[in-house]
Amino acid sequence: MVKCHFCGGEIVKGKKNFSVTRGNYCVIIRDIQTDVCSQCGEAYYDPEQGKAIEEILKTMDNQVKKLQAPIPPARS
Ligand SMILES: [Zn+2]
Repeated sequence: MVKCHFCGGEIVKGKKNFSVTRGNYCVIIRDIQTDVCSQCGEAYYDPEQGKAIEEILKTMDNQVKKLQAPIPPARS
């Protein structure tokens, strides 16, 4: 049986909401199917899931930067 690194609780299949607040935005992904500690609720994402979350944040970073870039003055 796999134990939680943090509290030694039992790891079970479950759902976890992932939320992060970055400089200028926040992301909440609901109901990620993953391994979760039954005691402290720590999520153990597999490498694929970690990669997916990383990709989402990378995309968000780039797109948000674009949205917040100063608009060049209109040429007359
Ligand atoms: Zn735990």
